[in-house]
Amino acid sequence: MDWIERTASAVAAEKERLTSLDAAIGDGDHGTNLDRGFTAARAALEAKPPEFPGAALVQVGTTLISSVGGASGPLYGTVFRRTGKALGEAESVSARELADAIAAGLAGVQKLGGASVGDKTMVDVFVPALDALLAGLADGASVDGAFGAAADVAESAARSTIPLRARKGRASYLGERSEGHEDPGAASAALLWRALAESVGG
Ligand code: ADP
Ligand code: MG
Ligand code: MG
Repeated sequence: MDWIERTASAVAAEKERLTSLDAAIGDGDHGTNLDRGFTAARAALEAKPPEFPGAALVQVGTTLISSVGGASGPLYGTVFRRTGKALGEAESVSARELADAIAAGLAGVQKLGGASVGDKTMVDVFVPALDALLAGLADGASVDGAFGAAADVAESAARSTIPLRARKGRASYLGERSEGHEDPGAASAALLWRALAESVGG
């Protein structure tokens, strides 16, 4: 719940930047889409506090799907729903279990949207950030350290979308004119990973 609270705050604070990134290579609604979605998700969690971490994330995903118009609603909704379902009804979750659950969420979004790394989407951030998290945990990094390093990787991966040509989503209609701009969904995914690291690190 703290992760969602922090994500909602970060998205609200960065709403204009996300929208202007989307104005350059899309339709200029990514910031408003996600702000609407995470505001609704936060309100839904407060109105009906879930019993388990997994149930919280499923509820967030469902709320995003129903409240966000646009591609990112079903895509992020799937990430959260699948991650939450993978956690099941566990009352507490280890770092490794959370990482594995996010892997299930990522698999869901790749199945739904068909994007691979390099297509200039949110997937360009999720894949290396998750790899960094799993590697950090496997190497015996502290939980704080592993999630913090994953967020650092997420932020640099978002910037790495700048030179790419979009091959999925609305930006792909622009062809080579999508080059030279950061992908808005990659930028929002980096916010989500930073919020997670802050939440886990306290
Ligand atoms: P819309 O394009 O419908 O207006 P948004 O602006 O909210 O939706 O979201 C756009 C973002 O969604 C893109 O920047 C990209 O990161 C992500 N996206 C679009 N299509 C896909 C896809 N097939 N797989 C993964 N992410 C995608
Ligand atoms: Mg858009
Ligand atoms: Mg749109």
